[in-house]
Amino acid sequence: MTASRDQATEPAVDATERTVAFYPGSFDPLTNGHVDIILRGLRTFEGVIVALTHNVSKQPLFSLQERKSFIEEVFADVERVQVVIFEGLMVHAARAHGARNVLRGLRGVADFEYEFQLATMNKTLEPEIETVFLMTEKSHAFVSSKLVREVAGLGGDVSQLVPSVVARALEERFGPPRSRHTINGS
Ligand code: ADP
Repeated sequence: MTASRDQATEPAVDATERTVAFYPGSFDPLTNGHVDIILRGLRTFEGVIVALTHNVSKQPLFSLQERKSFIEEVFADVERVQVVIFEGLMVHAARAHGARNVLRGLRGVADFEYEFQLATMNKTLEPEIETVFLMTEKSHAFVSSKLVREVAGLGGDVSQLVPSVVARALEERFGPPRSRHTINGS
């Protein structure tokens, strides 16, 4: 058989960079949806760097240090997870941490439009960096940090949606969740 003129050639890749994923986000706060993406990321990559940054368009509930400590506590026994704070362009930070892959989660079409724009922009800025998406587990499809903040702020019980360290911090911030009786006023 003759080789095709379009036959692929082996791309030059630094093996260490290929095995690490950079998972950026606000994580304000960490939810079980994030935890699931990190754990599943560890099945594909040798390490996951959870990378927190200040999102200029969002007023945070928890400080960067608080958010970092929640993630560190949840993954205290998981050596392959590292938590960092970065400033500036995400692709530059990923490169600086030796990661060639960016990990993102997709909950559905609502996420897709933004994630597609972001991935395309990042590819333009750093063509060497690939964005890898993991679909959410269906049980986490409706979990978002924003919803958790809103529900907890209104006295709802979010303990099924977040790790216990986060549930405790929300309780310290907003007080214990109110029972159905209190919410109904009965
Ligand atoms: P950002 O501020 O960049 O939106 P987030 O902390 O909200 O960061 O989310 C970080 C990443 O985690 C994003 O890719 C987001 O789509 C993903 N993610 C958030 N919640 C879930 C979930 N419940 N299931 C799967 N992925 C999720």
